[in-house]
Amino acid sequence: MKKVVVLGSTGSIGCSTLKVAGDIPERLKIIGLGAGSSDKKLSEQIAATGVKHVALSDLDAAARLRQNADGVEVYEGQDGLIELATLPEADMVLVAIVGVAGLKPALAAIEAGKDLAIASKEILVMAGEVVMEAARRKGVRVLPVDSEHNAIFQCLEGVKPEHVSRLILTASGGPFRTASTNDIRKATPATALKHPTWEMGKKISIDSATMFNKGLEMIEARWLFDVPMDKIDVVIHPQSIVHSMVETVDGSVIAQLSRSDMCFPIQYAVTYPDRVANSLRPLNFAGLGKLEFEEPRNDVFPALKLARKAGNEGGTLPAVLNAANEVAVEAFLDGKISFPDIWRIVANAMEAHTNKGEATLDAAVDADSWARYFAAAEVANSGQ
Ligand code: NDP
Repeated sequence: MKKVVVLGSTGSIGCSTLKVAGDIPERLKIIGLGAGSSDKKLSEQIAATGVKHVALSDLDAAARLRQNADGVEVYEGQDGLIELATLPEADMVLVAIVGVAGLKPALAAIEAGKDLAIASKEILVMAGEVVMEAARRKGVRVLPVDSEHNAIFQCLEGVKPEHVSRLILTASGGPFRTASTNDIRKATPATALKHPTWEMGKKISIDSATMFNKGLEMIEARWLFDVPMDKIDVVIHPQSIVHSMVETVDGSVIAQLSRSDMCFPIQYAVTYPDRVANSLRPLNFAGLGKLEFEEPRNDVFPALKLARKAGNEGGTLPAVLNAANEVAVEAFLDGKISFPDIWRIVANAMEAHTNKGEATLDAAVDADSWARYFAAAEVANSGQ
């Protein structure tokens, strides 16, 4: 029985984690829930799970929740998330807060000796070296929840690091996989949010449409598996059934497959190293018919090239890519900029940034703030 705290419990991954807990209650007990401002949703989750410890980063929402949560400790603010992430009885903290707001709670959990299950890829892009180094120092595990990284993690079991020639991340291609550049230019939040194979939160859905999601995942893979960027490739796979692959030096390729349901990778991250029977529907190969693969359209979607550059240069550039992208996605969703402006703003921020070449937490936090300021000014000047 693993006792798990879920940060970002009210989101898409958080809700799937609660589903997993309901499916295998003998293996997984949720003991803490954290979110931003969704006090009503959190209140329902308290009733469903019976947790006694919760946190909301929004102070007003925390105050509202306290009035309806007798017998439950309600922590608040960033410190409240840290308190929750370091609960003495927790074995593991699953981090599914969108963006980088989960970074400090994740580091605090590591320092408190908790294993991490990480969905929040932005954390590993901004400060992957810092997080992985802290985990190594404390002897705790960092288990990937992202389906691609969870797949690679599974494929790497029993493979020696020196026998790996390539990690191959699969990408659905998003809603604009086959769209003309003209249609992509005219994309609206409604069209960009329509992901063909996954149901996800808004930020990651837009990231999938721009392909920054895959770019972030390349950098995430670089840190999680300690491989150089030139050993990380991307292939488009519209069906989202092969979740990623590992190629070995003898030319064999090991792949992990399942239906596109995040409950699969969440469960494996939480129950690792065990395999636990569940009620999830398995794959029906004959029903699938075919699995397709194609090259990414790098000329139309510049996100992968930008991410490769950021991952190769390292230092503070990945933090800049990530923060500028977060600001640009929010501005696009608010109707302030066009869809291609997202790429333009990230590229401009990377171009304008002076890379400190350091991978310390302070340097990453400074670069993150600088990039947010820069990107906000670009949004203000874009005049859409
Ligand atoms: P959602 O937008 O659905 O949920 C985001 C969660 O983060 C909510 O619980 C939200 O709380 C919480 N949150 C937002 N800001 C804060 C904050 N400042 N402090 C505390 N909590 C906060 O996102 P997803 O579940 O889709 O994605 C979460 C992360 O997982 C992302 O990093 C994403 O890239 C990654 N991921 C998601 C996948 C998916 O299938 N959805 C797949 C793989 C990775 P509130 O409701 O109160 O705002």
